[in-house]
Amino acid sequence: MENRYSRQELFAPIGQAGQELLIQKHVLIVGAGALGSANAEMLVRAGVGEITIIDRDYIEFSNLNRQQLYVEEDAYASIAKSAAATQRLRKINSKVKINGVVDQFDTENAEALVKRTDVVIDGTDNFSTRFLINDTAAKHKVPWIYGGCVKSHGVCLAIIPGQTPCLQCLMDVLPQGGETCDSVGIIGPAVQITASYQVTECLKILTDQSPSREMLYMDVWERQYSSIDVQGLRDPACSSCSSQASYPYLRKQKGLRTAILCGRDTIQIRPESRGRISLSVLAERLESVAEKVRENKELMICFIEGKRLVVFRDGRTLIHGVSDIKEAEKMYRRYIGA
Ligand SMILES: [Zn+2]
Repeated sequence: MENRYSRQELFAPIGQAGQELLIQKHVLIVGAGALGSANAEMLVRAGVGEITIIDRDYIEFSNLNRQQLYVEEDAYASIAKSAAATQRLRKINSKVKINGVVDQFDTENAEALVKRTDVVIDGTDNFSTRFLINDTAAKHKVPWIYGGCVKSHGVCLAIIPGQTPCLQCLMDVLPQGGETCDSVGIIGPAVQITASYQVTECLKILTDQSPSREMLYMDVWERQYSSIDVQGLRDPACSSCSSQASYPYLRKQKGLRTAILCGRDTIQIRPESRGRISLSVLAERLESVAEKVRENKELMICFIEGKRLVVFRDGRTLIHGVSDIKEAEKMYRRYIGA
């Protein structure tokens, strides 16, 4: 068979030696939305040996303008993103081992996922998950590539524990404007350019080369680029990466864990303990109160009291059309249990 990596091996900084390194490496991608999809496709095509991709969400039509791994039938069937991503990625390159995880990246699974990988890619859309990646990566000394994009701009930075400042060190220079894709929109090119820089830095690390030490900003619409040298900004008393680190984001929460998903009028609730529930038993139980019940392999969707509930196999539930946490928790206790 023709060597599928021949053009990449011709690229001198990678070469055959680099290609052989890539095949031995394992990358974790947190989030299978726009950035996660773009990173995953490039890394799988590049021949990274193993990819684990974790995501808590399912595919909707509003994702299709930029989330390149998904097609209309995924949105019609509300397929979980990491399940659809896994199928698609396996078709792109059957030589790569793909592990799709339908779950939220959180304090319970973060360490187990991160410690067995060579690089973590940030494909998230929020800073609470990024700070959890940051703590976990710092604790287990795994490099990670921060990436974010909204509207027509993006940002990228490689964070190497023990060498560069971490995300916590850079709190004051981070672009935390509170803008999200759901509130101010996003165009596909902003995703592609951000993911391109993330993958490039990732390939450098995986082939034992030094990543860029600058935080890069780009705006494809305005055609503006700028970079900040952040290397002098390591905080010697940082709570995440100094010698007295306490890893505050890795501390476990107890009880129902409720989160408002930004800009979506959606509240996510997780039971205290993980465990698989039978969606068909649940559907039967809710028969008298729920409408338009449908389910696929990973989740069940129904309408109760005019609200759309999406229940995943581990009991995690998204309640759409609610902004009040107490109201959402009441619905969860009443209908889902736990
Ligand atoms: Zn730090």
